[in-house]
Amino acid sequence: MRTIACVVIGAGHAGLAMSRCLSERGIDHVVLERGEVANSWRTERWDSLRLLTPNWQSRLPGYGYEGNDPDGFRTMPELIRFLDAYARVIDVPVKTHTRVTTVGPAEGGYRVETDDGEWRCRTLVLASGACNIASVPGCAEGLPDSIETLTPMEYRRPQQLAPGGVLVVGASATGIQLAQEIHLSGRPVTVAVGEHIRAPRLYRGKDTQWWMDATGLFDQRYDEVEDIVRARALPSMQLVGTPERSSLDLNTLRSAGVKLVGRLATIRGGRALFSGALRNQCALSDLKMGRLLDGFDAWAREHDLDDQLPPPERFPPTEVEASPPLELNLTRGEIRTILWATGYRPDYSWLNVPVLDRKGRMRHDGGVTPSPGLYVMGLQFLRRRKSAFIDGAADDARDLSAHLKAYLGGESAPSS
Ligand SMILES: Cc1cc2nc3c(=O)[nH]c(=O)nc-3n(C[C@H](O)[C@H](O)[C@H](O)COP(=O)(O)OP(=O)(O)OC[C@H]3O[C@@H](n4cnc5c(N)ncnc54)[C@H](O)[C@@H]3O)c2cc1C
Repeated sequence: MRTIACVVIGAGHAGLAMSRCLSERGIDHVVLERGEVANSWRTERWDSLRLLTPNWQSRLPGYGYEGNDPDGFRTMPELIRFLDAYARVIDVPVKTHTRVTTVGPAEGGYRVETDDGEWRCRTLVLASGACNIASVPGCAEGLPDSIETLTPMEYRRPQQLAPGGVLVVGASATGIQLAQEIHLSGRPVTVAVGEHIRAPRLYRGKDTQWWMDATGLFDQRYDEVEDIVRARALPSMQLVGTPERSSLDLNTLRSAGVKLVGRLATIRGGRALFSGALRNQCALSDLKMGRLLDGFDAWAREHDLDDQLPPPERFPPTEVEASPPLELNLTRGEIRTILWATGYRPDYSWLNVPVLDRKGRMRHDGGVTPSPGLYVMGLQFLRRRKSAFIDGAADDARDLSAHLKAYLGGESAPSS
């Protein structure tokens, strides 16, 4: 058994950022990682994926993008190289191929069991990721045997799928890009569209991510929003990273020949049943996009940027079939595969500390859990709207490492 001040679980960008901040504060720590650095990006993503955040927007503590394409979008191999380089630069004390199997309370701290021995620590940072498990709706159990299913964590490329029709469930960033890719492979695609957030890639010549950053929306804090539970559950924006920096929305998909139906309500008697609210859902999303762009325009006016930027523009509303089908017979062979693009959740199956709520969600106040000395990183809107993005880890790691240091020193925590 080894003893150390702090154990960090996970060597994704969040664990690395935290490690760098702990080193800066002189806190002895180890990072335990079940795979290699950037394991999720190496093993759980599809071949064509590029980040939807531009290259400049990956500012980690003491490190950032230095190439000549700041507005481009990293491929997975590029991102893995970037995180590997960061790990080297910060000289992270990582033990790779070390899976944490159980975490429990121990005298004055925590006991961390791994497949390579046990650690004792006073403080613990869970940087094990927000997207360890693909969420699949319960109604999937009612599917006929003839339908193959897969999640984005299993999907790599269209050729993996059986020939024939594909139902993509979910129309956020993942759903729309996989729907487009599968459609281009020659398979007929239907997308079941639930709540989604429409956004143009470029607005007035600037990336939507730039606007979110510049206007301060990404810095909005968890204790400043009205309904943080809702804000944490919001789907990702419909943004994709492509060399052309083009927008991808439901209009693009529909005009290419992808069929749109309402949210998947249930599967019964071999039929997929869809909500009749597709039109409303799309109108709401258009409305919210309009409000977001109004906010960008107001900010540009306040900052005297109107003369330097192209004029404001508004985009055509999402077009929806007059009466989209309310059901699909899954036994007739039209649909061979269902792809669940219905979100992700963290895996805490190894955590034996009572910090989860009834629904299995982490209880925390901006990353500080109710269990003294136990912190969490990388969750949606953890401390700021940007928290789950690579670019969000730096501020959160600085704040939480300050709290952790104060806790170790027996001081009261700095105000958050
Ligand atoms: C499809 C997809 C696209 C995304 N695109 C973007 C984007 O464009 N830009 C952006 O900024 N963000 C993006 N994100 C969001 C975000 O960056 C990721 O969720 C990111 O992986 C979170 O970083 P992390 O370090 O918190 O977690 P991860 O990168 O998941 O790292 C967690 C690490 O913990 C390890 N681990 C987990 N359990 C254990 C255990 N029991 N023992 C030991 N190690 C363990 C894992 O192996 C992993 O290496 C995307 C997410 C997904 C899923």
